[in-house]
Amino acid sequence: MAQSAVWDLYVMEYARSKNQPWVDLVAGMYADGVMDLPFSFVLLQHDGRNVLVDTGFMRDEHGPGFSGKFGIPTWMSPLRLLAAMKLGPDDISDIFITHAHFDHMGSIAEFPKAQIYIQKTELLSWYELFALPKRFSHLTAIVDPQTMHTALGASIDHRVTMIDGDKDNVLPGIHVRLGGGHTVGHQIVIVDTAAGRRVISGDCIYSRSQITGRDNDGVYIPLNNAVGSAWEQLKTIDKMNDELGGDMGRLVVLHDVERWKGLPVVKEVEGFRIVKVA
Ligand SMILES: [Zn+2]
Repeated sequence: MAQSAVWDLYVMEYARSKNQPWVDLVAGMYADGVMDLPFSFVLLQHDGRNVLVDTGFMRDEHGPGFSGKFGIPTWMSPLRLLAAMKLGPDDISDIFITHAHFDHMGSIAEFPKAQIYIQKTELLSWYELFALPKRFSHLTAIVDPQTMHTALGASIDHRVTMIDGDKDNVLPGIHVRLGGGHTVGHQIVIVDTAAGRRVISGDCIYSRSQITGRDNDGVYIPLNNAVGSAWEQLKTIDKMNDELGGDMGRLVVLHDVERWKGLPVVKEVEGFRIVKVA
């Protein structure tokens, strides 16, 4: 592979919540009512190589599992969406994980050949948080314990790369920035595309207004559901804003309630969209 690469970037929507209060997610949004939050992961393609940013989650055949616990009635297997792009699990060579929450990392077991890239502090902090006495288990409520078993197994198989902070060209044209707050070692993924750089926010933000401020007043807004502090979150939003250079058109929000408005839909499978970002 060359030293630089430009990637095709697709957002793959695979689940949706129903009537979720905004204030569950973002601080201060009491008056903003409810919405149907979409869940997505990203497919990157270059020169026959297929890379994911996050994986979505699998539904437990024995019960609703996490999708029941968090009110996500509408779901499609991420594998079915990849099949719509003519890809099987073994075609995925690499996976960048923004953070370990079940809806982002929950399907890693489905991709046994992929190399996994995650921040060192993300993976190790979850091991530590799970080891705490049960009275601290609020902190781990959004992480599927099975994912931790899978990650340890993949680590022993030398399939996990733990990244220590910001790093350019983890793969050519794919860069990461440590952006803690939502979780301890959350990372932002930046991708070189033919249309320029795109910044994948992960769960640093759910709404663009967290960057632009309420009524565009420029005051950053933190999430309510975060393991880290408001201060860490705002430093991360500032870092992301630097990467964007003020251009919101370069931002890719995985839980975008506008469902990636204005971008071309390349496939639609039972109402779930695959959108080409660049
Ligand atoms: Zn999350």
